[in-house]
Amino acid sequence: MTFGEYQMRAADSWKYMLFNVWGTRGSFPAVSGKFMEYGGNTSCFSVLCGDILIVLDAGSGLAQLGAQLSQGARNIRSIHMLISHTHIDHIMGLYLFLSQLRDRFELHIYGRSGLGKILDEMTAPSYWPYSAAQSGAQIHELNADSQLMIESGGGNIRISSMNGTHPGGCLWYRIEYGGSSVVYMLDCEIQEAVRPAMLRFAANADLLVWDAGDVPGQEKKGWGHSTWKQGAEFAQEAGAAKILMAHYGWSHEDTLLRHMEMNAEAAGQPGSASIFAKEGMVLFV
Ligand SMILES: [Zn+2]
Ligand SMILES: [Zn+2]
Repeated sequence: MTFGEYQMRAADSWKYMLFNVWGTRGSFPAVSGKFMEYGGNTSCFSVLCGDILIVLDAGSGLAQLGAQLSQGARNIRSIHMLISHTHIDHIMGLYLFLSQLRDRFELHIYGRSGLGKILDEMTAPSYWPYSAAQSGAQIHELNADSQLMIESGGGNIRISSMNGTHPGGCLWYRIEYGGSSVVYMLDCEIQEAVRPAMLRFAANADLLVWDAGDVPGQEKKGWGHSTWKQGAEFAQEAGAAKILMAHYGWSHEDTLLRHMEMNAEAAGQPGSASIFAKEGMVLFV
């Protein structure tokens, strides 16, 4: 379903969030036939809440979202982009996106303190001909426990954040709209001391977006990532209805991901469904 089709529906069906997957990888885009099924673009997701579009991270998948927006999305009032952290796999899509969009949409970009300076530096003329400043995007730097309230045509959207467990730091986000919630925890590593706070943050999420970048049994401690297996257990403990595995390793081919997906299905946790993200996937929350 496209944004336009969602918005053609009667306003009261806007109580659902339309969740789109645009990029499923971590680290670096994976471009070859071996990655076609799950997708090769880096982290990017969107959540359409009525006439407000929330974007989660700006990896290379953002270009595809930009392409859909360029074809027309007249009823989108503003775009609010939540950046987890500025590792390049989470922001590289901004290069194309800012110039694709020019000033056609009101764009707000949120992230950790220092975001404005980093975006200015990365779009300096020596790297790219179109700067963040030219784009007119409004940059908002958040604290760990910031609360945002955005008014949409379908009701209020509440966004809260939490400091993540990832080298250099990151922010996780919880979006609540129409009685449902999406919790975004890229990138993450489970640290026992933080686990209780992580569980509270993700409690009863309708959809939990999870970092499944490591292969079970080959976890790299201190690198800031997790496995689908840790995620499935965590989701069940948190009472999350669905968990979406994402941020796959850049070298993880479709055959490996298919194998992990089958294992996850076989290990199914009661009350919490595991879904492996694929580029182009659409979910209603
Ligand atoms: Zn990452
Ligand atoms: Zn990272």
